[in-house]
Amino acid sequence: MEHWIKRGQDETEVVAADKKVRDIVEGILADIAERGDAAVRDLSIRFDKWERDDYRLSDAEIEGCLSQLSKRDIEDIEFAQTQVRNFAQKQRESILDIEVETLPGVVLGHKNIPLGSAGCYVPGGKYPLLASAHMSVITAKVAGVPRVITAAPPFHGKPAPAIVAAQHLAGADEIYCFGGVQAVAAMALGTQSIAPVDILVGPGNAYVAEAKRQLFGRVGIDLFAGPTETLVIADESVDGELCATDLLGQAEHGPDSPAILLTTSEALARDTMREIERLLEILPTAAIARQAWETHGAVCVVESDEEMVRVADRIASEHVQVMTRDPDYFLANMRNYGALFLGPRTNVAYGDKAIGTNHTLPTKKAARYTGGLWVGKFLKNCTYQRVTTDEASALVGSYCSRLCALEGFVGHGEQANIRVRRYGGRNVPY
Ligand code: NAD
Repeated sequence: MEHWIKRGQDETEVVAADKKVRDIVEGILADIAERGDAAVRDLSIRFDKWERDDYRLSDAEIEGCLSQLSKRDIEDIEFAQTQVRNFAQKQRESILDIEVETLPGVVLGHKNIPLGSAGCYVPGGKYPLLASAHMSVITAKVAGVPRVITAAPPFHGKPAPAIVAAQHLAGADEIYCFGGVQAVAAMALGTQSIAPVDILVGPGNAYVAEAKRQLFGRVGIDLFAGPTETLVIADESVDGELCATDLLGQAEHGPDSPAILLTTSEALARDTMREIERLLEILPTAAIARQAWETHGAVCVVESDEEMVRVADRIASEHVQVMTRDPDYFLANMRNYGALFLGPRTNVAYGDKAIGTNHTLPTKKAARYTGGLWVGKFLKNCTYQRVTTDEASALVGSYCSRLCALEGFVGHGEQANIRVRRYGGRNVPY
């Protein structure tokens, strides 16, 4: 039986907040579609107090950003990028083109074709989230996308040097400094100065995530990757300090980030809640983390690992940190999550920053139907077919003709009939 010691904001309030964001985003998208660069400029001034003639960074500006970082900073970024690239390359190798003969003379295949261009959003409102540059730009490049452009908002009134360095080192072809809805809309719809892209990827705040959702159709998107969520699944094999650290580590993302503890131990639940209060007194980002914890934090006690799997699958959290005696039980049995972090030796921050799996992950229950960003999102799986014998054409044609008749598709049926006559020397039906 589930026992919720603390509950987060309920669903109706979340829906109400979404409606407000939806309306704001709709207005901004219409403005950019109509006015292009002029709207991008006005919106950048309005939301980010950021004004330039050209929002694309020049080579000199990129060099200037790189020169502001230490050798250590660059090496750290390169370590993370190598990890991301290595894993993405292995994933790319696992995606195979196939060609099979399914009947004598009937050859079916599929090819994985890289998209022509990608727009990679790197969030930077509250923190300069340089890691998002590795996750999207490198992954697109490994997939083989020829044009990869990227945008991030200004940070404290100028391009964030670490983000620009990461975008550049990841191999971006064009780097823009603007943020929010105007950035994703400019990349997706194109403006007088920016050619539109085929797919938009990357995480962002509620406005960015909603903009991607509304742009879907006119452009491809990776997934709904909004405000971060974390679920810690734990038993008494770990202590409250570890659980509290992992919950607050993600709650600091923003006031709208849910952090949930799911446990079989009431004692651990109480210990974790005490530790959270203690850590909130000393965490420098406590102002944000406290708001997130008080509004969206939750603690649930259940009786078994089986029940933890059931509740966790219902929550479908973006991140799921498993710290129980048998973490692999959750790997074997859970169905809905963005990424799993198995055992106390790893954690969500490793995944966010350095270990090599992608940190752009589904939120708001999108984990029910998608995993996170990966090379496969930058590839189109396109099929083809070939019929190599007269007999095969006549055989498939006769089935096809009768099936067309069942649907009343006369023109379709004629496409089959003419082939049955030409290649099979007979009429349909038989
Ligand atoms: P951001 O870059 O996503 O958003 C900043 C932009 O928001 C600004 O440039 C501004 O133009 C726009 N904006 C701000 N207020 C606005 C308003 N009232 N109306 C319209 N536009 C407005 O940076 P952020 O705000 O720091 O958010 C980053 C988000 O990314 C966090 O919520 C974090 O949790 C999330 N994130 C998600 C994942 C994931 O995979 N799901 C990964 C990393 C980060």
